[in-house]
Amino acid sequence: MQSRESCALADQQDPLAGFRQQFAIPEGVIYLDGNSLGVLPKTALARSQQVIAEEWGNGLIRSWNSADWFALPTRLGDKLASLLGAAAGEVVVTDTTSLNLFKALAAAVRIQQQAYPTRRVIVSERDNFPTDLYMVQGLIEFLQQGYELRLIDENLSLEQALDEDVAVLLLSHVNYRTAYLYDMAAVTDLAHRYGALTIWDLAHSAGALPVELNAAQADFAVGCTYKYLNGGPGAPAFIWVAARHQDRFWQPLSGWWGHQQPFAMSSDYQPAAGIRRFLCGTQPIVSMALVECGLEIALQADQALLRQKSLALTDLFIELVEQRCGAHPLSLITPREHARRGSHISFRHPQAYAITQALIAAEVIGDYREPEVLRFGVTPLYLSYSDIWEAVERLRQILDSGSWDKPEFHRRSAVT
Ligand SMILES: *Cc1c(COP(=O)(O)O)cnc(C)c1O
Repeated sequence: MQSRESCALADQQDPLAGFRQQFAIPEGVIYLDGNSLGVLPKTALARSQQVIAEEWGNGLIRSWNSADWFALPTRLGDKLASLLGAAAGEVVVTDTTSLNLFKALAAAVRIQQQAYPTRRVIVSERDNFPTDLYMVQGLIEFLQQGYELRLIDENLSLEQALDEDVAVLLLSHVNYRTAYLYDMAAVTDLAHRYGALTIWDLAHSAGALPVELNAAQADFAVGCTYKYLNGGPGAPAFIWVAARHQDRFWQPLSGWWGHQQPFAMSSDYQPAAGIRRFLCGTQPIVSMALVECGLEIALQADQALLRQKSLALTDLFIELVEQRCGAHPLSLITPREHARRGSHISFRHPQAYAITQALIAAEVIGDYREPEVLRFGVTPLYLSYSDIWEAVERLRQILDSGSWDKPEFHRRSAVT
């Protein structure tokens, strides 16, 4: 049986407890949305001053060299690589996850056209994050070559979806709604046995749990830096390409930043060797510079300890909800099995939207996802066991009192 005291004791024994003071989190707020927008690293304020006032203000155009702006995408990519089980030279930080997905998809399709000219199926999951499906649909529409998107759902398992027509398998490592976690190595191996290439979307795993891209023999991966990596709103995303694939094709967004010699100003595109060919145009330097602040903190944390704490916190969340909110129609949609669980917890409830708004008004910030889902991001770097206790306590009060049933909590905003 968990209590406020047992949670306080767990905090005292938490080897990661010190990380919280590296972030500026508003007093009184319990932030359970770090899987949508991470919190502010304290160093980001000074770094933004430096980038804007010194590097931009004083350095002006010289800063491309003197502040090493030009190398930011690869320098940050090399740092990030160690969190992804990847090597230096395999990752760039650039563009958005959606755009990087387009590049990865186009590249994977292109490689497969050489290996298996007749394959025309891209497999993904109906429950995948919508942009992933939209980007596949956009590429298919653009190619006009009879490609088809085949979706795994309750009527079609992964095993059933894979066959000799499949060129590419695109999955989210952790599902954005349920937190279902795929076994990356096993699924990649299965896809490879059918001759398909894999693209992993790491939006909800990078920085939240250990990722082992090379050990899993994965082919491509993309992901966000503004979620668990605390890079800041709209911070540039990343793309990883296995070294064995990097030089096999050009990605179609073949802008000058991906050119072998961008400043030769040649009229002919020649892709840079290696991962740099995945760059397109000039990068958002101010935003990108701040990615490093979150990354530096993440790199200090032991990934195994982080995973242990994430599971302990999500276990605690489940246990407390069952213990204290058992009379209410909340149903857990996140897997209980540790090996299949990412780092957030989701419950269905018929009034999930209004309850989410009431929680936010009580300074417990989670979010709502269609349909009827209360979603709570559990970021082990800066949340405590006591935070989870307090969050569930406020949830209990809202449910027991029915205080969620007010007009203002039913009103929908543009961004939910
Ligand atoms: C958050 C998220 C994205 C976001 O893509 P953007 O291009 O940054 O808007 C993509 N895929 C998944 C699975 C996500 O969870």
